[in-house]
Amino acid sequence: MTEPTAPIAPDTLALPRRDADTGTRVNLVGLTRDALREVLIAAGTPEKQAKMRVGQLWQWIYQKGLRDFAAMTNLSKAYRAMLAEHFEIRVPELVTRQVSADGTRKYLVRIAGGHEVEIVYIPEEDRGTLCVSSQVGCTLTCSFCHTGTQKLVRNLSAGEIVGQIMLARDDLDDWVRAGEGMGERPRLVSNIVLMGMGEPLYNFDAVRDAMKIAMDGEGISLSRRRITLSTSGVVPEIARAGEEIGCMLAISFHATTDAVRDKLVPINRRWNIEALLEALRAYPKLSNSERITFEYIMLDGVNDTDEDARRLVRLIGGIPAKINLIPFNEWPGAPYKRSKPERIRAFANIIYKAGYASPIRTPRGEDIMAACGQLKSATERARKSRARIEAEAGLGELRIGGYATGAGGE
Ligand code: SAH
Ligand code: SF4
Repeated sequence: MTEPTAPIAPDTLALPRRDADTGTRVNLVGLTRDALREVLIAAGTPEKQAKMRVGQLWQWIYQKGLRDFAAMTNLSKAYRAMLAEHFEIRVPELVTRQVSADGTRKYLVRIAGGHEVEIVYIPEEDRGTLCVSSQVGCTLTCSFCHTGTQKLVRNLSAGEIVGQIMLARDDLDDWVRAGEGMGERPRLVSNIVLMGMGEPLYNFDAVRDAMKIAMDGEGISLSRRRITLSTSGVVPEIARAGEEIGCMLAISFHATTDAVRDKLVPINRRWNIEALLEALRAYPKLSNSERITFEYIMLDGVNDTDEDARRLVRLIGGIPAKINLIPFNEWPGAPYKRSKPERIRAFANIIYKAGYASPIRTPRGEDIMAACGQLKSATERARKSRARIEAEAGLGELRIGGYATGAGGE
């Protein structure tokens, strides 16, 4: 392993995760089964009933989308009053919602401390994928990623991660309605990808707790196979993710030599390609997942030659894999260009001929800056315009509309 030539996370202010209290009441969203059981007992629930109460509350909160204890009709009036006195069901606050011409939705939400993160909903014919964030900003500094240029970083709490899913389901009217059975209507949020802002494996505990709720049959109830965690390659946490979360895994691979990967994904200087591949060979056995997704961003003249494609195939030999080719999404001031379409096709063809699925990802929501890796700029622009308009008009609060980006090219 070579010594890093530059700090991997320069100038970054990492704040501890914090779930602000709006008052004295404890937010139940994001508590694990055990933690919820404990707070219920502490508030006077008899120990023998606590397990059943956890199940009942989870169904109201995560299947029906209730925020008000008074409407939980299978609980006694006295118990509902006790819950309302001690607890609340709180999700992040929606600041803006933008809908792209292609149906993609982007939500800007505010979390404790006034920080903002973005969530993207991508409807497709057979599924609806929600791209959630795990951190405000990111401590890593991948050179092609706009999120990585953001200085301020805070880990999200489990409640803030699950809360993103709940907020999107509110907007899409995706809850089980009164008198309706589970699965009667197709789920609009059918898949979750941890591909928004942040490195999920650097916020392991909160991500794990949130995904356990997403996968639990009394929680959000999504199958393990419909949840994908994307990591830039935090090698020591990969095995743990297999053991403790067990969802599908995606790797931001992006280069086939250490020299190039060091530049694109600086965490490679700490855990190089060989160390990463070793961890990946063990993953499917630990988690029962079928295939690992290798994400490969197509950067003009940087990592997109035929030789790269052949090297990629050789490197991942023996790992059950699919390769997702991502045309680079440009952002203002980005140091790269997207590879030409014919280059991407030639690259895909080599991988396909070697026996791997090699879909080329269609950028979605480019008109609202919702595509992969663009998730910082919108927030910053929103902030800027808010600050400007506030200064001009003395306004306290403001909603922004959509705006054109000039990003993306084709
Ligand atoms: N931190 C995690 C998850 C968030 S990034 C990770 O890096 O895997 C989600 C995906 O978007 C990653 O594969 C990332 O490499 C990719 N991405 C980042 N910036 C991009 C850009 N400008 N264009 C296209 N994809 C980008
Ligand atoms: Fe962080 Fe992922 Fe962006 Fe890299 S690509 S800076 S790890 S969010």
